[in-house]
Amino acid sequence: MKIVSSEQWLNRSLAGQKFYKIGGQQHTEETKKKIAISKIGKKRLPFTEDHKNKIGISKSGKNNPNYNKKLSIETKSKISITRTGQCVGEDHPKYGKPLSDETKQKISQSHLGKTLTKETKQKISIANTGENNARFGKPCSQEHKKKLSEANIGKKHTELTKQKISQSSKNKPKFECQNCKNFYTKNILIQWHGEKCKK
Ligand SMILES: [Zn+2]
Repeated sequence: MKIVSSEQWLNRSLAGQKFYKIGGQQHTEETKKKIAISKIGKKRLPFTEDHKNKIGISKSGKNNPNYNKKLSIETKSKISITRTGQCVGEDHPKYGKPLSDETKQKISQSHLGKTLTKETKQKISIANTGENNARFGKPCSQEHKKKLSEANIGKKHTELTKQKISQSSKNKPKFECQNCKNFYTKNILIQWHGEKCKK
C-alpha cells in the first residue's frame, strides 16, 4: 500500500491512463504548443464506416462516459459560450443537406414519449417566435392556406384547448370590426372580419 500511494513508486504501465489523470502528469505548456503546431494543417484520415459504427456503439447509452451524469450549469454555460456562433449556417456540416427519411424517423422515434419541461418549452417558443421563425415575413401561399384549411376540416378543439384559447385571448387587445361592430383579437379580426366579415 505504501508503495502504491507514492507517485514515485507507482507502476505507470499498470496504472495506465488513470495514473496520468490522477497523478497530474500532464504535458507542459511548451509540449502542448509543440503538439499543437505539429498538428496544424494535418487532417486525420477519415474514419471508415465500420470504425464510425464501432465508436458509436462504444459511446452510446450506458457506455457513454457522461451516461446519467448531468453537466453543471457552469460547464454548460462554458460550452454554450465557446460554441455560440460556431458551426452555424453554411459552416454547419449538414448545411443544405436534407435529412434522409430514415434519419428523420430515427430522430422522431428517439423523441417519442419525452416530456419537455416548461422551461424548455418556453425556450423553444422564444427561439421560434417572430423574426426567429423560419417563416418570418414569408406569407403562406394561397395553395398552402388551402391545404392547411383542408387539413383542419372536421377537427374539433378539445374543451381544454378551447379554454386555453379563450384564456389567452382575454389578455390580448381587442379591435372593433367595422362591419359587425363586434370586438375581436387582431388575428381573429384579420382572419374572419373586416372585409371578410360575413354579416
Ligand atoms: Zn365582423
